[in-house]
Amino acid sequence: MNRLEFIHTGLAIVGLSHFEPDKSMNTDPQLLIGKGSPKLVGKNYALLAEADKAFQEMSAAAQKQGVALKVVSSYRSFEKQKSIWNRKFLRFKSQGMSDRAAVAKIIEYSTLPGTSRHHWGTDIDIIDAGPAEEDDVLLAQKFHGNGPYNSLREWMEIYAQDYGFLLPYTKDENRSGFKYEPWHYSYAPKSIPMLRQYIKLDQEGLIFSTDLKGGSGLDQEFLTSYIKSHVMGINPSLL
Ligand SMILES: [Zn+2]
Repeated sequence: MNRLEFIHTGLAIVGLSHFEPDKSMNTDPQLLIGKGSPKLVGKNYALLAEADKAFQEMSAAAQKQGVALKVVSSYRSFEKQKSIWNRKFLRFKSQGMSDRAAVAKIIEYSTLPGTSRHHWGTDIDIIDAGPAEEDDVLLAQKFHGNGPYNSLREWMEIYAQDYGFLLPYTKDENRSGFKYEPWHYSYAPKSIPMLRQYIKLDQEGLIFSTDLKGGSGLDQEFLTSYIKSHVMGINPSLL
C-alpha cells in the first residue's frame, strides 16, 4: 500500500466509525411517523440519547472556535407537523392559491405530517446563538456571505461529519424535493437505519389523517411521487 492509499484507507476507517448505521435498530413504525412516545433527552430540545451525546460533543468543539450552536427545532410530533401544515395551507389559500398550489408551496420547505425527519429525534435545525436574532432565522441567505450564520455554516461544513451529522437538504442543484436548508442537520448513524425502515412501511395507511387541510386532494399517486422526490431527495450519504 502506498502512502496515498494508506491515507485513504485510514480516512475510510475514520469515516466508517462515524457513519456506520446501527443495523440492530428496529424502531416502532408509529415512532417513525411522529406518533407514540419516543424516549428523548436534551435541555432546550429533544433528541435520541445517542444523537444528543454527539451533539453535545460537537457543540463543545464549536464553542472553542467561537461558534455557539443553538437548536431551534428538534423532535416534532405528527400533531405538531400537522398544525404547521394546516397553518401554512390556510395562509396560502387566503392568498388566493388553489389547493394544489398551496400544497406545492408548503412542500418547498415543510413536510407532510408523518414524513418529517424531525419525527425521528435525529434531526435538528440550528443557528449561531452569538449574533442577535432578527425575524425569521431559518433563511438560506443568513447562512452565507455577510449573514449572521455564515461562520456556523463554514464550521459545520468542515466538522459536523466528524460527529455523525450530515446535511440532508444540500445545495446540489440536481437534488429533488425540499429546497436547500443549511440549518438542518441529521445524526446519520441513527437516521440512516430509520429511513431504510421507514420507506418499507405502508405510508398511505399510516400517514393520512382526516383533519389534514388539503388532504382530500392527496392520493396514493401524490404520496408515491412525494416520497420519491422529497423523502428520498436528500444527500446520498444519508440514504
Ligand atoms: Zn429541519
